[in-house]
Amino acid sequence: MTSSNAMLEMKQLTKSFGPAQVLKGIDLTLEQGKVLAIIGPSGSGKTTLLRCMNLLETPSGGTLRIGDLALDFGGAQLPKQGQVLQLRKKTGMVFQAYNLFPHMTVLQNVMEGPVTVQKRPKEEARTRALELLRKVGLAEKADAYPHELSGGQQQRVGIARAMAMEPELLLFDEPTSALDPELVGEVLKVIKALALEGRTMVIVTHEMKFAGEVADRVILMDDGRIVEEGSPDEVFHRPSSERTKLFLSRLQ
Ligand code: ADP
Repeated sequence: MTSSNAMLEMKQLTKSFGPAQVLKGIDLTLEQGKVLAIIGPSGSGKTTLLRCMNLLETPSGGTLRIGDLALDFGGAQLPKQGQVLQLRKKTGMVFQAYNLFPHMTVLQNVMEGPVTVQKRPKEEARTRALELLRKVGLAEKADAYPHELSGGQQQRVGIARAMAMEPELLLFDEPTSALDPELVGEVLKVIKALALEGRTMVIVTHEMKFAGEVADRVILMDDGRIVEEGSPDEVFHRPSSERTKLFLSRLQ
């Protein structure tokens, strides 16, 4: 993998909260159109790593590049606010708990970013939002409010809302972990369809079977480090580290 066509690149990225170093030097690349799954035990740093990718958390050191924008957190001069905003625009985040605006309809939720942040004309944003709602199978719910939807439906709206900003990179933070088991499948199906479209995505997930089906690359985190990296087949069936074998055996 050359770094030239990588959509996402991290070098020696670190993150500390006070005295606690939570990410201990992460090196990572992801090519355009590929899907990366991040797995690992609770507290290993998966969510922090994902949040560093769109600067919801500011890394303590190292470099981060998304597309043509590279930021250095190790130098004397921290990235400027303008660069941070520019980088955020390249990413779309789908949260564990949907985070929809409760007082807005489904359609308004999906239009909100394009209209208020991107200053798109309302009609254009509406047409595009309806297209995205069709894509996630919820066109008929456009005028409903979030509380009228199931958790699975709300999360599909969350995905449409992230896509509405046309991000280069889509980030998913355990997108199914708040859902009842019978609602997980419909969300995973939408994410799989996006993968087939060639979207570049990073997914923190506990769904190992899903990770195996959708991801091109899998990393296993433990205690702030990447302890295993490879294709799903390599990580799940031929892991090299004892840590990975132990983690996988505990899932069975
Ligand atoms: P995971 O997603 O693998 O469960 P997290 O990235 O959420 O792990 O957390 C990794 C570690 O960082 C944990 O020990 C957690 O308590 C700590 N941590 C996460 N966010 C914060 C924060 N905002 N302040 C202090 N500690 C945090």
